[in-house]
Amino acid sequence: DSRKYTGIVEDCCCDYETVDSLNGAVLHPLLQDLVRTPFFRYFKVKLWCDCPFWPDDGMCKLRDCSVCECPENEFPELFKKPIQRGLSFDDLKCQEGKPQAAVDRTLDSKAFRGWVEVDNPWTQDDETDNSEMTYVNLQLNPERYTGYTGPSARRIWDAIYSENCPKYTSGKICQEKRVLYKLISGLHSSISIHIAADYLLDEAKNLWGRNPELMYDRVLRYPDRVRNLYFTFMFVLRAVTKAANYLEQAEYDTGSVEEDLKAQSLMRQMLYNPKLQAACPLPFDEAKLWQGKGGPELKLEIQKQFKNISALMDCVGCEKCRLWGKLQVLGLGTALKILFSVDGKNHPNESLQLQRNEVIALVNLLHRLSESVKLVHEIGPSIEQSMEFT
Ligand code: FAD
Repeated sequence: DSRKYTGIVEDCCCDYETVDSLNGAVLHPLLQDLVRTPFFRYFKVKLWCDCPFWPDDGMCKLRDCSVCECPENEFPELFKKPIQRGLSFDDLKCQEGKPQAAVDRTLDSKAFRGWVEVDNPWTQDDETDNSEMTYVNLQLNPERYTGYTGPSARRIWDAIYSENCPKYTSGKICQEKRVLYKLISGLHSSISIHIAADYLLDEAKNLWGRNPELMYDRVLRYPDRVRNLYFTFMFVLRAVTKAANYLEQAEYDTGSVEEDLKAQSLMRQMLYNPKLQAACPLPFDEAKLWQGKGGPELKLEIQKQFKNISALMDCVGCEKCRLWGKLQVLGLGTALKILFSVDGKNHPNESLQLQRNEVIALVNLLHRLSESVKLVHEIGPSIEQSMEFT
């Protein structure tokens, strides 16, 4: 076997080969259809530059950077209706600060009780602040090369890595902190892969296509970055499958009955896929984290770091990068909330509650990661071979 990546994906229960075949045969095709349904293609976001750390550097005006917002009549009428208020933030904090913090691997079975508006304890955005939000059709604003580069982009990544998850020297870093680093690095790999997969090759001719050198230079030549991508994919997949009861019962209503039923059916096919359950029933085991002494404090510390990362998204100088940055960070924050902020075992009355936008972000993030893994698997080896010969 000529595979470069072999063995078990870190902290997962299945190997690289299994992830690739499950992704190619099951996950990617389902996710591809799912993100095109009306429910999943409209994302609510506050787009304007509102950086608390640095002044605006003018990058917002780059041509390929702008986002086309949806006109009022395009996005689903139902999305405009006020949503019931859910549990308070305090209710959701559940196990923080409590010594017995053991994470239950299952969630309440009577899960979905309508979409709610509750702030996510892992992210910074005030999702209930509707006055400044607009809707974006994600299908019309694909994540790809935008020309956002140089010191402005670099300082965001630097801040994310150095302020929020310093590169702890191996051995000293505890498992939980490594998880945050790997999640960010995996997301970074995925963003770089999408930039390289959809690149402006010739500006004069407006010619777009793949840039294999870029994919190699930024991701493929660093095995750790590829491993972190797979890790992040499995982490988010675990969150989605852990919330299966909730996501199965959730209402994907946009007013278009046929499309909404399709979204629900695709979701079920993904959540209860027999191949997935047989080959990779536990893509990440969250119950192993925060167990030791000081676990609850560590969790709060990492929650704070992740919130800072979320706040940094307001400083991303290019509008389209900010859109996808915010979406994917909210998606990761939602995965963290599902895996670590709801504990049905210790607090039986407390159940998972999600915002519509959180679920939209979670599923779109999973799709982005799935596509990156597919690209790495399908074209990575030939790119590596040609680069290593030159
Ligand atoms: P960068 O990708 O900026 O990386 C900076 C440094 O981080 C590298 O030198 C390396 O030391 C380290 N690093 C790189 N990858 C990893 C990894 N996987 N794991 C660990 N460390 C790593 N540009 C677009 O064209 N389209 C977009 O949609 C887009 N979205 C963005 C979203 C966000 C949130 C941010 C912060 C930036 C985005 N950018 C986007 C910019 C893009 O990510 C790069 O910053 C830019 O292309 C410049 O790349 P670079 O070669 O300087 O390296």
